[in-house]
Amino acid sequence: MEEINLKDGINLIKKYNKMSPKERDQIKRQRFYAMVTFARKHNKLYSELYKNLGVNFFMRDVPYVERSFLMEHKDIWQSDEIIASSIPQAINTVRSFSFERDYHRFLLHKSRYVIISSSDGSLQRCSWDKSTTVLSVFLPTDELVRQLNELNPAFLWAFPSTLDNLLMYKKSGSLKIKPVLIIAGGEALNDDLRTALINEFDCTVQSTYSSAEFGIVASECQMGHLHVNDDWIILEQADANGHPVKEGQKPEKILITNLYKTDYPIIRMTLPDNIRFHNKTCPCGNTSPWISITAAKDDYILFKTDEKQISIHSDEFSSVLNGIDGLLRYQIVLYANNNISLRMEVSNESMRGIIFLQAEQTLRRFLKEKGVIASAITMDADTPLRNELNGKLKNVLDHRE
Ligand SMILES: [Zn+2]
Repeated sequence: MEEINLKDGINLIKKYNKMSPKERDQIKRQRFYAMVTFARKHNKLYSELYKNLGVNFFMRDVPYVERSFLMEHKDIWQSDEIIASSIPQAINTVRSFSFERDYHRFLLHKSRYVIISSSDGSLQRCSWDKSTTVLSVFLPTDELVRQLNELNPAFLWAFPSTLDNLLMYKKSGSLKIKPVLIIAGGEALNDDLRTALINEFDCTVQSTYSSAEFGIVASECQMGHLHVNDDWIILEQADANGHPVKEGQKPEKILITNLYKTDYPIIRMTLPDNIRFHNKTCPCGNTSPWISITAAKDDYILFKTDEKQISIHSDEFSSVLNGIDGLLRYQIVLYANNNISLRMEVSNESMRGIIFLQAEQTLRRFLKEKGVIASAITMDADTPLRNELNGKLKNVLDHRE
């Protein structure tokens, strides 16, 4: 494996776009082989996992690994060597549908790329191309705004929750950036936020299925379909033992392999999200497969009563609480016996008590309609907090165990 700079990365991706299916398969096999070889040499966890794997192997022979196992063994999952790669930026550059149209604007910004991510949150140690800056999602928003104004990015990658935060600063005029492309990833991008971003920033907003942990899995096309970046990411539909499923068989697991990420390699790892694969060709012209993401399993909150189990999707809480005046953001923390602590960010601190009372009543009513009795709903001293590891902001945190 060797270092890939932005220019080379862009060329590799453009070349792949023109390849025949057979050539594509071949290059993916080579990259997969190179990654496995790298991992067993530079990574304790994989060298142990692959100790019975021969020198010649097919992809299906390589043991799959549970994501939870990697997370529990972060100390040995980290490689002793890292190879810099600008593939994520190259993917966004080539596979952004506004790119051809906005190419000159992109150059005017000196092709600057800013990623607001959980860079301090460990799972990313890659050295990036010099046109790329990674800002921590944990920075106070004022400081983020200051640094963004200084960097003036052409491309901006961020979680929707961060973009939502930045929107207010753009509206007030303190955030002055004029990106060519905003790429949302890590969390679901809803239509309201997408429209608001397009209106406020006057640029293309592209949704991706991506995370610092496993890379840019899929990028959205003009038709709104998420095409897998299958030159660098392999998604497999597997049975319970990690073997490829036969045609028509329902997969038990989705396995992901990232072919460029060397810091914490991802090879045949189980994905936490539910993915649907589509067979129809997409009219946009991209022949790579496209997928849709159905909610992650942990987006559903399960409540047990004496007679039944009630499952509520975390978005349902948003649809009831988002209507409350002055409540900018909330986070429900669920404790044993359905005790709820509510974290709030409010527009006016002097109204905090009143806003809480409204939220509390709304929440209680909503849960009652669902058949769930909340023991107590109290106001939390904290405002909503991001996950320390991956930087994501969840509306509901389940601390009942
Ligand atoms: Zn398409």
